[in-house]
Amino acid sequence: DKKDTEPENGNVKVVCRFRPVNQNELDRSGEKQICQFSKNKKSVTILRSKNSDGSVSSNKFTFDRVFDTQVTQRKVYEKAAKPIIEGVLKGFNGTVFAYGQTGSGKTHTMQGPDIEDLEQQGIVPRMIRTVFNRINSLDDNVEYTIKVSMAEIYMEKIKDLLNPTKVNLKIKKDKDRGIYVQGLTEQYIASETDVYNIMKVGNAKRTVASTQMNDASSRSHSIFIMNITQNNLDDHSSKSGNLYLVDLAGSEKVAKTNVCGTQLEEAKGINQSLSTLGKVIHALTDKKIKHVPYRDSKLTRILTESLGGNAKTCLIITCSPSSYNELETISTLRFGTAARNI
Ligand code: ADP
Ligand code: MG
Repeated sequence: DKKDTEPENGNVKVVCRFRPVNQNELDRSGEKQICQFSKNKKSVTILRSKNSDGSVSSNKFTFDRVFDTQVTQRKVYEKAAKPIIEGVLKGFNGTVFAYGQTGSGKTHTMQGPDIEDLEQQGIVPRMIRTVFNRINSLDDNVEYTIKVSMAEIYMEKIKDLLNPTKVNLKIKKDKDRGIYVQGLTEQYIASETDVYNIMKVGNAKRTVASTQMNDASSRSHSIFIMNITQNNLDDHSSKSGNLYLVDLAGSEKVAKTNVCGTQLEEAKGINQSLSTLGKVIHALTDKKIKHVPYRDSKLTRILTESLGGNAKTCLIITCSPSSYNELETISTLRFGTAARNI
């Protein structure tokens, strides 16, 4: 039955979110907000001041949805993430990415300031809550098995965040499991609290944490993986879906972070894997493109079976509203529209 295997609205969505202006931006002289949101919530216009002749021009960007600076965490979850967890509960794979410069709100959007604060929770804890609400509301004839992993990709090396002695893990493929990261810890979980505790452990193991542009954590991709398997005890049918939630490395340019040597190599590696991701998503949204370059980076290789096909994907572009970050915001928005089918 085709309806069951092909979700109707297209499987790849690109949305965009602007965070509120912050104190650091307000403190700069000449600071102003450069984004204007359209009434239909699908476009944003950036008023550009940095033309070389001093004139002002504008660029309009259109997405599946644009979230303005006042949007709630709940709204973002409902529009961008809920359809994806619904798909995973039906046995499809799904992926949510956050892409943007450091400080633009990727982690706020994915995790929130406090994973246990129900109002402020980001996408990851809200998805987990939806899963356990579903499990608790169903009758006993379905048996659920839930496994969680956390990994970090840093300079094209995969590290296990739940067991940091495991570094440089390999990606393998086999008939039963499909594509997987060999040796990555899989933690069985039975409750929301179990997952939150695991997330705290994983977050603490990320390569250094602070909000500096030069901080290594801003140059690595962090991946939260959840496998949900359901066995129906009545008719013995089973289904299994994988969910990948990815907080990408900061998209800022090499020049702004002012790096050299190892750090320059890092930045190039990041740009490589981010640009491969853009190419993969673009290829998936443009039917004329036959070759999807999954193999060109570790991240896209891991996600081969969770992007495209029956999998649902949402790319969330995060931006600053301030003139101070104008050039990064423009380049972030361009990445988002290039990834989208035009
Ligand atoms: P990133 O992960 O992209 O580097 P963060 O998510 O850490 O950025 O956000 C940087 C700062 O801005 C944090 O203090 C965060 O709490 C705040 N912030 C980001 N997005 C929002 C938002 N939509 N509303 C309120 N504060 C936000
Ligand atoms: Mg972050």
